[in-house]
Amino acid sequence: MPEPYVPGAGPDPGPAAPKPYSPDELRALDRAHVWHPYGPMPGRQEPLVVESASGVRLRLAEPVEGRRELVDGMSSWWSAVHGYNHPVLNEAARGQLDRMSHVMFGGLTHEPAVRLATRLVEITPEPLQHVFLADSGSVSVEVAVKMCLQYWRSAGRPDKRRLLTWRGGYHGDTWQPMSVCDPEGGMHELWSGSLPRQVFADAPPDGFDAEPDPAYVTHLRQLIAHHADELAAVIVEPVVQGAGGMRFHSPAYLRVLREACDELDVLLVFDEIATGFGRTGKLFAAGHAGVSPDVMCVGKALTGGYLTMAATLCTSRVAQGISRGEVPVLAHGPTFMGNPLAASIASASVDLLLGQDWEGEVARIGAGLRAGLAPASELPGVADVRVLGAIGVVQLDHEVDMAAATRAAVREGVWLRPFRDLVYTMPPYVTGDDDVQRICRAVCAAAREG
Ligand SMILES: *Cc1c(COP(=O)(O)O)cnc(C)c1O
Repeated sequence: MPEPYVPGAGPDPGPAAPKPYSPDELRALDRAHVWHPYGPMPGRQEPLVVESASGVRLRLAEPVEGRRELVDGMSSWWSAVHGYNHPVLNEAARGQLDRMSHVMFGGLTHEPAVRLATRLVEITPEPLQHVFLADSGSVSVEVAVKMCLQYWRSAGRPDKRRLLTWRGGYHGDTWQPMSVCDPEGGMHELWSGSLPRQVFADAPPDGFDAEPDPAYVTHLRQLIAHHADELAAVIVEPVVQGAGGMRFHSPAYLRVLREACDELDVLLVFDEIATGFGRTGKLFAAGHAGVSPDVMCVGKALTGGYLTMAATLCTSRVAQGISRGEVPVLAHGPTFMGNPLAASIASASVDLLLGQDWEGEVARIGAGLRAGLAPASELPGVADVRVLGAIGVVQLDHEVDMAAATRAAVREGVWLRPFRDLVYTMPPYVTGDDDVQRICRAVCAAAREG
């Protein structure tokens, strides 16, 4: 019998570490019990088993296609901007772990959350003054929608409860976010009958540098005007539509939305979960347009890819509007709200980003992607090649064979996750020039074989 653990008497040795699984055992148990993103149960794909990760490299538990290490072209779904196992972020995690990993946020507060919220207010557009810390991007969008609906309810206009967005968007997988994802192209078509029915404008015309299309501007203005009495908010991803199709549009349309929303008494929400923290070449994509939303969501790269945390920011006008209502509180409060561990790492990640020439690094990677992906436009089956910030996209004229494309990338020593008709990369900002070129070779190989 081990001695019972006496709190305060020194470290508890704890139970002996369990025997590690072999890769084969892991895969069998994974298939039998564990859901993966957008996956069937039992699983059908053979996921690669990752043992550890450091810098821009994932280390596999066993060689695949002759490769034990893969350069990560995905930043773990666009979040690990500083790469893995970063000493500064590790230190932030360890330091906080020794103080407390979590305490409830109702009735209590703590430095990690306050510091992070203050930092976010400082670095986001000026009118955004108040921060709700949420557990994931989808939840931050739920909170954004709740803020907007409650703002109008408090103002005595409860009929303003629909949302307008443009097609081709992605805002997450919970209920309200699903309702503003692309109604056809997205993964949520299945639910169209059960979701709140929102107002959809056409997708914004392609091209970051393209002249704004006057017909499209009129279309946006008229649609907002037509529905203004029932619209709580317009919600869009600024400049880059991510998981909805990796499409880029002119920042001019964001100015059109800002003007129309101001004129017609509709709130404007920017979902910067994918675009935030430098990915598009500006700290936030709203910066390309020089406009500020009423509500803004950030997530993904917020914690440098270490832990799940997102934030919803709003203006004082929105916060005060809510507080004037018959129910003067924002009725939302997740168990792990403001998690100190995630907040400490997030602050360290933001400081790490802003403490370096991130603009230069993103531009350097963008130049590397532009050069390295140019040959892809000559490949048969390739419809378009585009680069913005540290985002490189090869669009095919057909659905990609995901398994073949992934294998082709692994053969080049790179991890990619193509989807629909897209092979794309969003590398960590610390990716060296040689590794950027390796990623480009892998994207081209994946485009050829997928
Ligand atoms: C990923 C993403 C979300 C959802 O974030 P989760 O953390 O996956 O819930 C929402 N909006 C955009 C633009 C995203 O890219």
